[in-house]
Parts: sequence; structure tokens; C-alpha cells
Amino acid sequence: MTYEVQKTDAEWRAQLTPEQYRVTREKATERPFTGALNYNKESGIYTCVACGAELFSSEQKYDSGSGWPSFWAALNPENVGEEKDRSLFMVRTEVHCAKCGAHLGHLFDDGPQPTGMRYCINSASLDFKKSDKE
Ligand code: FE
Repeated sequence: MTYEVQKTDAEWRAQLTPEQYRVTREKATERPFTGALNYNKESGIYTCVACGAELFSSEQKYDSGSGWPSFWAALNPENVGEEKDRSLFMVRTEVHCAKCGAHLGHLFDDGPQPTGMRYCINSASLDFKKSDKE
């Protein structure tokens, strides 16, 4: 898989915090209820912490109770790539930034309407841009 944004491992390590690196480059999962954006209810856009691509909006964020930021849809579906993940003895759908390959989290089908989808995203893989309007 070739991504538009390409960096060496050393460059990613220099740019990202150890936790951001662990999640986005090594597909780790942050501990639930620890992420800075889990309880964020402000209006704005969630971007990829690694490359800045716009991924999710506060408009589709909801409290799933899982301990991770949850969205029932992606803001720009073309920016969120999906891949089958067969680790941990389960078949899950892994989601990543389509621009730089950063691991974001997983996609489940137990979300609220209108989509029924739940993007379960690591806070460490996201940045938040607060919108200017109130
Ligand atoms: Fe990215």
C-alpha cells in the first residue's frame, strides 16, 4: 500500500509522541477512558494526528460508552481506509488514514442510526480543530 504522505520510521518517531507513535504506526490501542478527546463535546473537526487529513466531525460524534471517541460516520469517507483485521482471534475491520496510513481504530456495526456504524477511534490518533462558530 502506497500512501500520499510517506515518512521514514525515524521521521514518524521524531514527529509523534510515544503514545501517538504506538497507536498510529504500531496499531496499538490506547487504554479506554484515557484519551484526551473521548469526552470532547466541542464543535469542530477531528484530523489525523500524523498528517492533518480531515477525518471526522463533531456532528457525527456520540458517546458509545466504550471509552474511545466514537463516530457513526466519517466526515470524508475517502480519507478513511478500511482493512480486514484478523488479530486477537477475531475478524474486525481496521480503519486507518487513507493519506498516511496511520492506524485509527476499528469499525463496528453496532452504532446508532442513521448508519448503524461505530467508528471506534483512538484519541491518540486524532487532533481536534475547534470550529470558529459557536
Ligand atoms: Fe494521516
